[in-house]
Amino acid sequence: MNDCIFCKIAAGQIPSATVYEDEEFRVILDLNPISEGHALILPKKHFTDITELDAETAAKVLPLAARIGEVMKKALGCTGFNVLQNNGISAGQTVFHFHVHVIPRYEGGPDVV
Ligand code: 5GP
Ligand code: ZN
Repeated sequence: MNDCIFCKIAAGQIPSATVYEDEEFRVILDLNPISEGHALILPKKHFTDITELDAETAAKVLPLAARIGEVMKKALGCTGFNVLQNNGISAGQTVFHFHVHVIPRYEGGPDVV
């Protein structure tokens, strides 16, 4: 996928604010965060959306989201977090490389989602 910005970010070809990386995933801070610490989990493999995910990625991505959320609670002091994932233009997807939003939520903070 030559033209996919998230492929390039996930591969490290475009610099990003990376908060976690392993063989299969890169987790970055969203360019337009809806709360402080809003992160995106990007698989290094290209999938357009959830319908294309392979079994291995599907099995790993939610446990990773849970771990990221737990780290956010400790590191950022959030008291909760949303895990959000958009598929298709009508659902608000704007980047067509599967990704999962992990959005920290703070006690008394605004209703961002
Ligand atoms: P979607 O609407 O597709 O679920 O989410 C795409 C998200 O990616 C948006 O929240 C947007 O702010 C973020 N985004 C788009 N381009 C970039 C980029 O180049 N770098 C980073 N870090 N985030 C991006
Ligand atoms: Zn891609």
